[in-house]
Amino acid sequence: MFNESPKCRVCGKEIEGGEPVQLEMRYPKSRGFTEIKAYLKLEAQFTCHECAKSKT
Ligand SMILES: [Zn+2]
Repeated sequence: MFNESPKCRVCGKEIEGGEPVQLEMRYPKSRGFTEIKAYLKLEAQFTCHECAKSKT
């Protein structure tokens, strides 16, 4: 499950390591970031650099 690469929500491109991305998510209600990875997996949506540039 966790090996799955995140994809850009706009163009569907796989996010590459080291690539700058825009991240949209709700801030966790629970305290701390202990479960941030699981949370990101559920809640985060990435936008790749190219799409983020063209959006703004
Ligand atoms: Zn994109």
